[in-house]
Amino acid sequence: MSESEGNRENPYTFDDYLTVRDNFNYYRDDPFFQALVKKYARDEYEQIDRDMRALSDYASYRFRDLANEANDLENRIKVTRVKHYDAHDHRIDRIERCNETETLEREIFSLGLFDPMRNTPWSRFVKLFLLYQNSEAGVMCPIACTHGMVWLMQQFEDKLDPLSRTILEEVRDGKGGTYKVGAQFVTEIQGGSDVPSNLVEAVFEEKEKEDGYSHCWRLYGQKFFCSAVHADYAVVTAKPKGMPSSTKVAAFVVPSWLPGNKKKEIRNSYTIDRLKPKLGTSELPTAEITYNGAVAYPVGPLEKGLANIVGIVLSISRLHVALGMASASLRVAREASLYAQFRTAFGVPVSSFPLMINQINDLNHHAMRAAAGAFKVYSEYIHFGEELIAGIRDLQKIDDMEERKRRFRLRELVMLQKIVVADDAPALIRRAISFFGGHGIMEDFLSFPRMQRDSMIMELWEGPRNVLLTQIHRDMQRVKDWYPAEDFCSDLLQGADTDTVEPLVAEFSRIMALDSLLKNDEHTLEICRSWETLSGELFHAYQDQALAELDFDISLPKFSKLLRDFKKREKEEGIQ
Ligand SMILES: Cc1cc2nc3c(=O)[nH]c(=O)nc-3n(C[C@H](O)[C@H](O)[C@H](O)COP(=O)(O)OP(=O)(O)OC[C@H]3O[C@@H](n4cnc5c(N)ncnc54)[C@H](O)[C@@H]3O)c2cc1C
Repeated sequence: MSESEGNRENPYTFDDYLTVRDNFNYYRDDPFFQALVKKYARDEYEQIDRDMRALSDYASYRFRDLANEANDLENRIKVTRVKHYDAHDHRIDRIERCNETETLEREIFSLGLFDPMRNTPWSRFVKLFLLYQNSEAGVMCPIACTHGMVWLMQQFEDKLDPLSRTILEEVRDGKGGTYKVGAQFVTEIQGGSDVPSNLVEAVFEEKEKEDGYSHCWRLYGQKFFCSAVHADYAVVTAKPKGMPSSTKVAAFVVPSWLPGNKKKEIRNSYTIDRLKPKLGTSELPTAEITYNGAVAYPVGPLEKGLANIVGIVLSISRLHVALGMASASLRVAREASLYAQFRTAFGVPVSSFPLMINQINDLNHHAMRAAAGAFKVYSEYIHFGEELIAGIRDLQKIDDMEERKRRFRLRELVMLQKIVVADDAPALIRRAISFFGGHGIMEDFLSFPRMQRDSMIMELWEGPRNVLLTQIHRDMQRVKDWYPAEDFCSDLLQGADTDTVEPLVAEFSRIMALDSLLKNDEHTLEICRSWETLSGELFHAYQDQALAELDFDISLPKFSKLLRDFKKREKEEGIQ
């Protein structure tokens, strides 16, 4: 029978592709990921490499399957539910999630990622990077929120009252036996970008209430986007009534249940009004809630709440968005490139068509530069002891000009990276989906539809694009006396070749020469358009430089070799 002749016994199978995709170990089988860890972890490399191999054995298989199962099309609608009342008419607002997400959360939180006895800055970062290969999965948002909560509370550790200190010890150190989960509730119905417009009120009440608490702060009002609403504690913004700073936003930590009440399901004087049906991150419960006098503990000076929330909590979340999407992009690029080598059309692997060759190279280059950029930005964060200065005013108190500038660059890089990576990721995943043709759209064929939906959420979380572009522009105005735009841009791209740097510096300086982006005239409109374009070009140049500094011989994984290796591995494991 000739090859083109009809044959009703169609022998086609995807099994070889599945063997490669499903056996691939995210860390052990990825020399690029290992090279990044080696370059940045330095002296700690051997220990971290051992830990990563062990964790990767879970993340690449068990965690991956749990994440997929929870987001299965049939499960998606029911993975998060709220049960308002029990059978005996008690208001409980119980959050019900599927077993898979709960298991995943328990196992990931048990890693004690923020516990200084269990992890160093680098081991924490690379483990986070590894875990994000499974996308948000209903767990990484609570992880990011807990990270922000711990770092905010740590900043004021010596000033915390005993109850708040216990909260910190529970979330950070696992006091009580398990690592508790944190959340952050800032956004209100009237707006998330404009945090100063918050209306939730904090009132210091001396009188004892039904819950037995007196002389404490209590919150009143509504929060409209409360992710990880199943958490044990939340960082919440509110305006303290009757204080000189009553128009300013303060930061509080709010227990979901007062001590002893979790088992009884008596919430800390607030109701969960509704869970939101979402396009992405559907395993993660996001709610609308109303505070009716919840006991709250202030963290840091009341009048500095906004600066602390934005400068510490949201900045950490922005780092997470970028590292998370960079990591997910690596997996997406890998699985799509391997499929293109497996799949044939017109008698040849589709990876051999010149149009596809370009697309495969671009996809991998974009994923790798995002990953290299994420490591480089995070290395700056670690350089400063994982400490972010909350606002420009505090930054200006630093006398050492080199340090002040470097810290300022980190502040801007966190925003720039968030905008660019969160904007690139949905486009990158969409392109990767196209490699699979029609199969790329099928929910049960691959994980990309879930990752695509998650990536769209990342664009909006923690400061949408416009808000951050405006903030960076405003920051540049505020520091121009001691850090001119031209110097800032050249310093950012240090090491890159002149042909790349010069035009970017010229354009950046032109854009920053305009004093405000808020005027509605022709020139401002043109500058805004140029800034949108340049922000991407600028950060891509930074990422490319990070990739060049890695000095890694980029060769893409070979499907045929992996297939041979994994079949051999399967055989050996079968024999054992
Ligand atoms: C799935 C999901 C989960 C979330 N979870 C949480 C959570 O747990 N906690 C929490 O606090 N929040 C959460 N959020 C809210 C999120 O942080 C906000 O949606 C975000 O901050 C934007 O606020 P907004 O939705 O009110 O949009 P708006 O502030 O109304 O913005 C609308 C548009 O206006 C643009 N815009 C606003 N200001 C400017 C400006 N100065 N210049 C130019 N353009 C501007 C924005 O870019 C945006 O495109 C969540 C959001 C989503 C989608």
